[in-house]
Amino acid sequence: MLIQSDYHIHASFYRVRKEDDPPRPKAAEQLAAAREAGSVYVGIVEHCNNSPKHPFYCLEELAAEFYSPEFPRNNVFFGVEADLKDDGSDFCGRGGREKLGLHYVIGSVHDSPKSGKNIEEYIAWEYKCITNALKYNTNIDFIGHPFGEGVRWERSGDIPMWHWGLIPQNFLEDILHLAKESGKALEINRPYFEDPVYLDFLKRIRDEKILFEVGSDAHRASAVHAAAERTKKLEALGFQEEYHWRAVK
Ligand SMILES: [Zn+2]
Ligand SMILES: [Zn+2]
Repeated sequence: MLIQSDYHIHASFYRVRKEDDPPRPKAAEQLAAAREAGSVYVGIVEHCNNSPKHPFYCLEELAAEFYSPEFPRNNVFFGVEADLKDDGSDFCGRGGREKLGLHYVIGSVHDSPKSGKNIEEYIAWEYKCITNALKYNTNIDFIGHPFGEGVRWERSGDIPMWHWGLIPQNFLEDILHLAKESGKALEINRPYFEDPVYLDFLKRIRDEKILFEVGSDAHRASAVHAAAERTKKLEALGFQEEYHWRAVK
C-alpha cells in the first residue's frame, strides 16, 4: 500500500494578481481540500522564480499563514517550487530556504514556446537544468514534473502531439542514473499513463528503487484530488512505500 501524499499543492493566493483575477486559495483552503482527497502527508508551496507575479514577499506572506498559531501543521509541510537554472542552481537558494523556514524545495523547469525555443531546444535545456541540479544542487529535494512543459508546444500548434518519445533515450537514462546517485526524488505529476515511453520511465523508477513523489500540482482546491488518482495508478504498477519520498521537519 502507498500512503497517499501530495507535496505539490499551490497556495496560489500568494502571487501578484490582476483586479479581475478569480479568487485563489490560501494554504488553509488547499490543506482542507487535500485532507478531503485523502492525503496523509501534505505539502503547501508557491512558485519561487524571477516572474513579476512571484515576488519574494508573497512567499513571506505564505510563511506567515503557515506559521500562524491557528494553522494545523501536523503532517503538513511548507515548501517552494523553485525554478532551476541551467547550471543546476535554483531561484530559492539556501538563503531563501532558511529565511522562509522551508521543509523542502522542489526544483522545476518552466518554459513555453514564448521563450523562442523550439521543442528540441526546450528538451535539451530542461535536460541540462535537471542533470546539473541532480549533480550539483544540495538545496533541492526533488525534481518537479520532469519534461512537464512539452505539452505547451502542442497547445501552441508548434508540434502535432507532445509525447515522451520526443525525448532522447540517453537523456532519460542520465536522469534516472543521477536521481538514484543523488538520493533526490523524481516527481510524478503528469497524467500521461498511456504514453509508452513515460510508462517505461515510471517502471524504471520503480525497478531501480529511485525515490518518487506524487504531486497534484493543484492551483485550485478542485484539482487536489489528482494526487489520489495518480497514487492509485502507481500502486497498481507496484510502486513501494519504502521509496516514497517524505519531507522531514
Ligand atoms: Zn511547475
Ligand atoms: Zn507547480
